[in-house]
Amino acid sequence: MNRALEGKVAIVTGGSRGIGKAICFKLASLGANIVINYRSSNNLEELIEEIKAMNVECIAIKGDISDFNESEVIIKETINKFGRIDILVNNAGITLDGLIMRMKEEDFDKVINVNLKGAFNCIRHASPIMVKQRYGKIINMSSVVGVAGNAGQANYAAAKAGIIGLTKSVARELASRGINVNAIAPGFIETDMTSGLSDKVKEESVKGIPLKRFGKAEDVAELVAFLASDSASYITGQVINVDGGMVI
Ligand code: NAP
Repeated sequence: MNRALEGKVAIVTGGSRGIGKAICFKLASLGANIVINYRSSNNLEELIEEIKAMNVECIAIKGDISDFNESEVIIKETINKFGRIDILVNNAGITLDGLIMRMKEEDFDKVINVNLKGAFNCIRHASPIMVKQRYGKIINMSSVVGVAGNAGQANYAAAKAGIIGLTKSVARELASRGINVNAIAPGFIETDMTSGLSDKVKEESVKGIPLKRFGKAEDVAELVAFLASDSASYITGQVINVDGGMVI
């Protein structure tokens, strides 16, 4: 059995559903202890028990990552429980789509605050700990729309493009301290986030995917596991697409 992450401590923001949940399972299967951060989900007991059944420890910490102080609490509670943070996956995200001429100011702000500032908040509080440890893996969830743009998602694309600049800058700052910082740009992944799209939009989207299928949350989790492992120790500051070839 591959237990490449045995004993490591991983925080996954937005770990209660979708891609984040798949990441929690994958990292736990490799032996990492898991902190599931979430904002509003209920009944996470079953998920926690399923993860613990993989012979690791698991806790859930409620907290809104867009809030600087709540993010600090997530990091502090992790340290209180586990004493270290090896892996930080900044995965939590939201969409509030709309064409630019109709987009409400508050919808722009909310999407930036969760998707971009949320990642900053968690990195800001976790990085001093990783620097002290001289070890850390930070993985930020961007999107192909952060690279290519998307009509109706100016707020989301701006946040996801911001994630790329954040990733590259922090990678340069922290490389000398044994910390790797990378970003993942998923394409169309089947989760709650994409389930509301119309069949017409889905049909059109799949036409633009060379591999002719939507991605699964597990497709993204596989790459997170690799970047979180020491097999990826010479990779930093990169943005890697998991998109079936949507953006080449
Ligand atoms: P999802 O199914 O909608 O799940 C979102 C997760 O984020 C939930 O666990 C949610 O927690 C959490 N969350 C939302 N706002 C939060 C906040 N302020 N503080 C803490 N947690 C918060 O989304 P997903 O599809 O798995 O997406 C995961 C990430 O991948 C996002 O960053 C998304 O932008 C990115 N992505 C997704 C796709 C795709 O096609 N699905 C493509 C490219 C990139 P609650 O359950 O408590 O609400």
